Amino acid sequence: MSHERAEQSPTELEVLISGGSMGGLATGIALADLGHTPTIYERTTGELKSRGGGIVAQQNIRQFLTQHTDVSPESITTSSSERQYLAQSGEIEHSRPEAMVFTSWDALYRALRNAFPEEDYHMGEEVVEVTSETATATFEDGSERTADVLVSAEGGQSSTRKQLFPDVTPAFADYVAWRGVIPESELSSSVRDEFDDRFVFYQGTDQLILAYFIPGPEGSTTPGERRLNWVWYDRLDSVDRSAIFTDTMGTERRFTVPPGKLRDPIRTDQLERAVETLPSVFQTVVTETPEMFVQAIYDLRVPEMVVDRVCLLGDSAFVARPHTAAGTAKAVGDAVTLAETLSQHESLEEALTSCNQTRSAYGVQIVSRGKQMGDDRLNLGS
Ligand SMILES: Cc1cc2nc3c(=O)[nH]c(=O)nc-3n(C[C@H](O)[C@H](O)[C@H](O)COP(=O)(O)OP(=O)(O)OC[C@H]3O[C@@H](n4cnc5c(N)ncnc54)[C@H](O)[C@@H]3O)c2cc1C
Repeated sequence: MSHERAEQSPTELEVLISGGSMGGLATGIALADLGHTPTIYERTTGELKSRGGGIVAQQNIRQFLTQHTDVSPESITTSSSERQYLAQSGEIEHSRPEAMVFTSWDALYRALRNAFPEEDYHMGEEVVEVTSETATATFEDGSERTADVLVSAEGGQSSTRKQLFPDVTPAFADYVAWRGVIPESELSSSVRDEFDDRFVFYQGTDQLILAYFIPGPEGSTTPGERRLNWVWYDRLDSVDRSAIFTDTMGTERRFTVPPGKLRDPIRTDQLERAVETLPSVFQTVVTETPEMFVQAIYDLRVPEMVVDRVCLLGDSAFVARPHTAAGTAKAVGDAVTLAETLSQHESLEEALTSCNQTRSAYGVQIVSRGKQMGDDRLNLGS
């Protein structure tokens, strides 16, 4: 392997990928299909587990499955044909035809994981430092590996991003997302019918809740075996962020309190708010969810996605608010663009520069759109 950068042609590259979730896997699969040699290092030990459930299966995600995996998008997606807004009374405020396709984080992760060679996916290996000029990663045990390109797909809390851009920090919004999933089999038939084939919303003055069906825990899309996924954006106003994000062990978390770790008083307060303010069908869904959890909403953007031979992608580079339904689609889009630009350019440097320009512009645009959408919906002046 050569590291004379300007001379190097971007064919049959060795690519070291830090992070083995959606962005890392999509990058690995797309690069391997073009004849490169990617290796993924994922810090987690054991299988990655869904944090919540639902993902809007945007067109580019479905196309990726079709082009790069044996999994047909239809087999792991659910759909709705109508968007419906409820009034607080439960009456239908308005509705319109809209075709949406959804999946679950775990079903998509399994599909991507099965499409990437097991022997090139290493779990329990954390990248603790990078040398961008040589695409070298240093691991927790002090060992080093060097490749032609190093991709950081380490998510919103990426340590590589913190090393390369220490001044880039998440800008927390003044609201959070309460989330949960509930098995379809536990819903009454009237609640089930309300959500079947619909993407249902309630827009209050300082809150927004939405719900849609996603595949079941084993990936089943058969009615009766699915799960209802809900996301409830609620303003913090007088509520103390640090109290919400202090978990059952007394640890203050920055980004999420996962299922089972939410303290009782916090959970109880939010359930009371559900009963006081939500339309009854959403009250039922929220109060009957076994393990509600909460995520911080924040914006994050890097000035550049590429530094020397390191490329940051997915949430490692840009985090847009969930209203854009763009997180996973963006990670997959970054992966595809990186792989394609490597095939379209004569030199590695040109390819990385081109990828940086295209995807950074998109990242900036989607983060700004997400902020606008979120602040509008939550009535927060921006
Ligand atoms: C376990 C898990 C469950 C999720 N569940 C949902 C969900 O249900 N719904 C939803 O909308 N979104 C979910 N997300 C977020 C969603 O996957 C991402 O926002 C989006 O797909 C972008 O993916 P990403 O690969 O850029 O980042 P992420 O999905 O955040 O993945 C980053 C990966 O990098 C690994 N990593 C971080 N630092 C290092 C390091 N230094 N060395 C090696 N590995 C490292 C992390 O362990 C993680 O697996 C989840 C993410 C994870 C990791």
